[in-house]
Amino acid sequence: MSKGIQVAIDGPASAGKSTVAKLVAKRFGYVYCDTGAMYRSVTLAALRRGTDLTDEDQIIKVANEIKITFAPGNPQKVFIDGQEVTQAIRETTVAKNVSAVAAIPGVRSRMVELQRQIAQEGGIVMDGRDIGTTVLPDAPVKVFMVASAHERARRRFLDNQERGIDGGTIEELQRAIELRDQKDSTRAVSPLTQAVDAHLLDTTHLTIDQVVDQIATLIEKTQQQKQ
Ligand code: C5P
Repeated sequence: MSKGIQVAIDGPASAGKSTVAKLVAKRFGYVYCDTGAMYRSVTLAALRRGTDLTDEDQIIKVANEIKITFAPGNPQKVFIDGQEVTQAIRETTVAKNVSAVAAIPGVRSRMVELQRQIAQEGGIVMDGRDIGTTVLPDAPVKVFMVASAHERARRRFLDNQERGIDGGTIEELQRAIELRDQKDSTRAVSPLTQAVDAHLLDTTHLTIDQVVDQIATLIEKTQQQKQ
């Protein structure tokens, strides 16, 4: 039996990547890796240490020192040096600062190194911004998931409501999402961009199940071609 392929899912903030990636991973018995959670963890650790967020060397030091680990759960559990931070990395202060931290080349090189280690065995669904372009450029299945900014804000609003998080109105969320997209798409290193060989999937009018089915079909076709 083959050990499974690498599946790269990229796209802008709140496009539903993690929800879909998790379900795809479950369907194929693959590992799921949320790379956004890794950048959020570096940001949270820096904030907690009181690091000056404009001091790139200090933030790179944080990225190199902390140990980020994942454990199964819904949502998937995230730990920094053994301490659970699953909820804390979703806080507004982290969301506001993460794009600046993720734009630092030394932070990215460390995270990319860790992500490649996690993915090296195959059988992985990894989501983020630069997976298909930089982290796993040879992944046989690449998806670039998009949805309108309003739809993404609406989904995030409902998600917050469900989790009991006061994350602001749909309009406020849309502004924050657009700002993060802009920062992620215009940074110098590994900006958010669709890989030339990625399948563009606009999920604005699709259900989660429809998106999962479409990606599953891509994986099955690729597996058949490999046999
Ligand atoms: O996916 P999520 O929204 O949690 O990602 C948080 C932030 O982490 C993104 O806005 C982006 O700045 C950064 N990120 C990145 N590269 C990735 C994943 C996330 O730069 N592969």
